[in-house]
Amino acid sequence: MKKRFLALAAVCMITMMTACSPSARVEQAERSFYAMDTIMSVSACGENAEQAVGQVTRRITELESLWSVTDEKSEIYALNRSGSGEVSSDTAELVSFALDISDRSGGALDPTIYPVLTAWGFTTGTNRVPSADELSELLKVVDYRAVETDGRTIYLKEGMMLDLGAVAKGAASDEAARILRKNCIGSALINLGGNIMTVGGKEDGSGWRIGVKDPLGEGNVGVLTLKDLAAVTSGCYERYFTAEDGTVYGHIIDPESGYPVDNELLSSTIISPSGRLCDALSTAVFVMGAERAEKLWRSWSAESFDMLLITKSGEVIVTEGAEERFELTDKELTLRVIEK
Ligand code: AMP
Ligand code: MG
Repeated sequence: MKKRFLALAAVCMITMMTACSPSARVEQAERSFYAMDTIMSVSACGENAEQAVGQVTRRITELESLWSVTDEKSEIYALNRSGSGEVSSDTAELVSFALDISDRSGGALDPTIYPVLTAWGFTTGTNRVPSADELSELLKVVDYRAVETDGRTIYLKEGMMLDLGAVAKGAASDEAARILRKNCIGSALINLGGNIMTVGGKEDGSGWRIGVKDPLGEGNVGVLTLKDLAAVTSGCYERYFTAEDGTVYGHIIDPESGYPVDNELLSSTIISPSGRLCDALSTAVFVMGAERAEKLWRSWSAESFDMLLITKSGEVIVTEGAEERFELTDKELTLRVIEK
């Protein structure tokens, strides 16, 4: 028995040694592609980096074909048409995750917002301002609490539609990082349309330097230095339209009112090891506004996530962990640190 255990331990040791051993043949691979309605890029350094990056692009394309809300062949499209059905474990898991964050954010995140989003024309490309009556009618089918799940089977209420747009890219970035790590990549930068995921640091061991966009201009307001962390920003500057009366309407909807978010925030950035958590919370926090977001952050366990909020009054509100990693370069803004 003891002999067998020792033999097994030896096999494990050899596997561990060969699994990710330092290699002389270090490749640098970079690829950009279009998926999930945005430009994505993956840059990786390590043995077999080319092959690993190829696997990442194929996996993201596969996830897109499951989660797209507009692709007639996707699982989400089919579910939205039929109202119920069994989905893949990838989809079931992401739906449960989105519902959990919806709950924990008091409904600020709501993956059933799609009919309202469509009324504003954000899915069709022809934007319009719906009437208050139209919105209150549509809001009757917006309620994450009415989505039922039983294993991999999902049930929607009549007229209800799911949209994973607020979490899909973050979840895809987790998959990208998992695949790269499995392929022994120790240094990679994944940028899925602004959803950033880092694997290790740069080749020289320093952290990846990620610009935080100025929501009102072209440049950056500062730089985040990240290692093995994701950072995701939500803001209405990404997709919006200007109505005839000059009002600007953004693509993130407050599920409470059915109107695009209009609070004191210009953007919200979440930092954590989990890409999907960053994605879900950046959208939720943008809806919640600074005060509710601060309460949410305090109520979560330490180190679950950090945040950086840019306000219309020129403040950058950062949690302790975000401050450690952030350098403010726009001196017209003031930094305010919040502590647990
Ligand atoms: P993000 O860019 O991750 O902040 O997600 C924004 C996208 O999520 C939008 O383009 C919509 O597809 C969708 N969305 C908008 N508002 C919400 C909301 N309150 N909850 C969930 N998804 C939303
Ligand atoms: Mg999001």
